[in-house]
Amino acid sequence: MQSVKTAVKKKAYKKRSLEAKDKKYVWHPFTQMKDWEKEKITIIRSGSGVWLEDMDGKRYLDGVSSLWCNVHGHRVKEIDAAVKKQLNAISHSTFLGLSNGPAILLAEALIRIAPAGLARVFYSDSGSEAVEIALKMAYQYWRQTGKPAKTKFVKLVNAYHGDTLGSVSVGGIDLFHEIYRPLLFETFSAPSPYRYRWPGGSEADRVRDEALSGLEKVLARHHQEIAALVLEPLMQGAAGMIDQPSGYISRARELTRKYNVLLIADEVATGFGRTGSLFASRQENAAPDLMAVAKGLSGGYLPLAATLATEKIYSAFLGEYQEFKTFFHGHTFTANPLACSAALASLKLFGKNRVLEKLELKISLAQRRLADFYNIPIVGDIRQAGFMIGIELVKDAKTKEPFPWREKIGLRVTRRAKKKGVILRPLGPVIVLMPPLTISHEELNFLLDVTYESIREEAEDQ
Ligand SMILES: *Cc1c(COP(=O)(O)O)cnc(C)c1O
Repeated sequence: MQSVKTAVKKKAYKKRSLEAKDKKYVWHPFTQMKDWEKEKITIIRSGSGVWLEDMDGKRYLDGVSSLWCNVHGHRVKEIDAAVKKQLNAISHSTFLGLSNGPAILLAEALIRIAPAGLARVFYSDSGSEAVEIALKMAYQYWRQTGKPAKTKFVKLVNAYHGDTLGSVSVGGIDLFHEIYRPLLFETFSAPSPYRYRWPGGSEADRVRDEALSGLEKVLARHHQEIAALVLEPLMQGAAGMIDQPSGYISRARELTRKYNVLLIADEVATGFGRTGSLFASRQENAAPDLMAVAKGLSGGYLPLAATLATEKIYSAFLGEYQEFKTFFHGHTFTANPLACSAALASLKLFGKNRVLEKLELKISLAQRRLADFYNIPIVGDIRQAGFMIGIELVKDAKTKEPFPWREKIGLRVTRRAKKKGVILRPLGPVIVLMPPLTISHEELNFLLDVTYESIREEAEDQ
């Protein structure tokens, strides 16, 4: 142990020594560090628009929006200015017992744009927390409205709602989470409408109806003990970009009404324009009772999340102090003013730059060009909801035989893409494309060219 004075040295960032120190001191998320320590690593020093720049000055297109959160690109003039302005006022003060301007105005703006009925904003710092908070609110809501038996949750197979234990409990990705099973609470599972691998054929209406009847079976049988259904509307992201057939969310919403179960929409990935509309729930007018947002909320600038609730849920927490109806939850950095300022500036840009209007042409450009990807023999299925795109690679497109896990097919493709100047991060065998919404047509074509070439070269090596 050293004194803090000698521990933090004044030094310019030098690439060689930084790389050695990363491998010596850091533990990276979702990373096998044994591989990491052997590899040449990339250290990002700056960014601008959709581009990232590493310590050697090499530029890469940010093809997954810095893990699905960046909206308007990096170093956006208006967001930078908003954060700097707030920095000159104050960086942080608590939201427990105090309030702050940016958080108040952001709450107002969120309620104005949110699906109908959502009326209150509860802040936190990450998507996982926003989901945990929704779970706790749903559970406590029923306890305080005379139905204390409603304590369980329904999730979809393959769901992903974050990495904290509550969110993992309502997640269904065994590969990530199997080891933690003994620590989790029990849930009910309903089928995920995964068309490509649906037994007996992939026709959209049939898959939708069969998946919904699976959901209804669970609700009919157990609704008296079910607090809420949790789902990612329109697209299950981390599951490998599994899109839901049209009509699925609105009918799932009807089922939750029929069986008196709350609907929690996890819009952490789909929110803020990702699927082409501001929120995915809006596309089928399926307004939830609780909605979790994070990733794109601050434009991808700073950690910020929120759980939105209806007035009906909020009112169930009102009571005399000694009744203990309070929602006992909060984090140190809840409603951080810097992050809320970034979020307000990001929301303003949607209107000012007509982000969603301009996105439409880019979505159809991507759709047109992705159709050609089926010419590559290892491309099995391509799924798209706006700017959430997944390309599932298979060993044999006819039989849909998957690649063995140890072949790391996704990583092999993304390594090729990186050499050609594009950063991607796969989900197993699924290549994910999620560029910032403000990408230009030229940059989008470059992203698609590089992705196509990287998959084609990998197919040739088979
Ligand atoms: C990323 C994600 C989360 C978790 O958000 P974090 O900020 O990483 O904790 C939850 N739900 C969905 C749908 C996500 O994509």
